[in-house]
Amino acid sequence: MTTMLDDFSRATDWALFLDLDGTLIDIAAEPDKARAPAGLAMVLEDLHRSLHGALAVVSGRPLNDVDRILRPLKLPGAGQHGAELRRLRGGRVLRPRPPRAIRRVAERVIATMPEGALVEDKGHSIAVHYRRVPHLARTIRARVARALAPDRREAHVLHGKMVAEVKTNGVDKGQAVDALMALPPFRGRVPVFLGDDRTDEDGFAAVLRQGGHAVRVGDGPFVPGGPCLADPDAVRRWLATLRDALG
Ligand SMILES: [Mg+2]
Repeated sequence: MTTMLDDFSRATDWALFLDLDGTLIDIAAEPDKARAPAGLAMVLEDLHRSLHGALAVVSGRPLNDVDRILRPLKLPGAGQHGAELRRLRGGRVLRPRPPRAIRRVAERVIATMPEGALVEDKGHSIAVHYRRVPHLARTIRARVARALAPDRREAHVLHGKMVAEVKTNGVDKGQAVDALMALPPFRGRVPVFLGDDRTDEDGFAAVLRQGGHAVRVGDGPFVPGGPCLADPDAVRRWLATLRDALG
């Protein structure tokens, strides 16, 4: 079956929204150790140019961290699921102050996590990674829920692959897509979102609402159907093919 994945006839009008971990790069056991494979930055740079700037990395990571991984690029993007936004390459990052509730939850999470769980305090969100202690998954989820409880009107938890993430309410990847699509160089294009995890579903919904394409990566917890790529390696090969097609 032919899908948009092998029909690039409309691709000059696309705006690409790319998740990072598990989509562009393989998920690393420790998020600090994540690295982009050689050649990825160049493909992204070429695509950014061919699409007249309409390419954004939409990640749960802070944009500083995205930039470190994709060095030397500072692509347009959204960090911390949309709490940070950068519309233009190398441009200013809009970074509102994190709500107080998130700071309180962070303190309680840090105080109660068992050894082996990795707490990543990102400012607007808190990720608890338990890849190293998968047998503690239930304990960790319960403790995150307890740490969140007093502030659950202002924050919520999302469970991804070996990670529980507390996020500010009203901030998600779908809102990030909408915010970027409202302005040039994204405005008027057909949005295409590639993602591998639950937090990407808001992004999928946003692009589908705007007549775009949602591309699932791997066998994540998604509604079945629609275009799909097997893993980050397949994503990188597809992006390289798209780059060649756009010239
Ligand atoms: Mg991901």
